[in-house]
Amino acid sequence: MHPRTFFQHCPRCGLPAPEVLPKAPFYCERCSFLYYFNPAIAAAALILREDGAALFIRRSKDPGRGKLAMPGGFIDPGESAEEGLRREVREEVNLELDRLEYFGSFPNEYAYRGVTYQVLDLYFFAKTNLDHQAKALDDVDAFEWVLPASVDLNQIAFSSMRTALERMRKKG
Ligand SMILES: [Zn+2]
Repeated sequence: MHPRTFFQHCPRCGLPAPEVLPKAPFYCERCSFLYYFNPAIAAAALILREDGAALFIRRSKDPGRGKLAMPGGFIDPGESAEEGLRREVREEVNLELDRLEYFGSFPNEYAYRGVTYQVLDLYFFAKTNLDHQAKALDDVDAFEWVLPASVDLNQIAFSSMRTALERMRKKG
């Protein structure tokens, strides 16, 4: 369900909300409160070590529990995509990323506890020679180093990530 579905009253003045198309912004006739359901921003990295293998995590939580993903996550307000990505990678796999090379953006839908959030995923290439320091930390069951070309795309947690990985393989 789109988050708009759950705005049954104006969050500012409490007026019951009219039913509108779910993707429209929320607008209150009484107090003029206007709220856009913009996509959240997330960033992920294809982290390559010197032998060309990339780091994939096994997700410990839904959505995509048990599936593979590139490390990354949601960007906090006030963070740049690069800062948020470095923080997420530090929190998930204990790696400090140096240079990030932007690859491209892909829209995603993130279904969580009965609500489907629109997300824009930003993908980056990164390199590391500190692969021996990687650890499975927050929201990560395990990780593996795999050649990107040999990853089974059906094992990837998100459709945007499958598309990104397919295209990154051609470039990387
Ligand atoms: Zn209102």
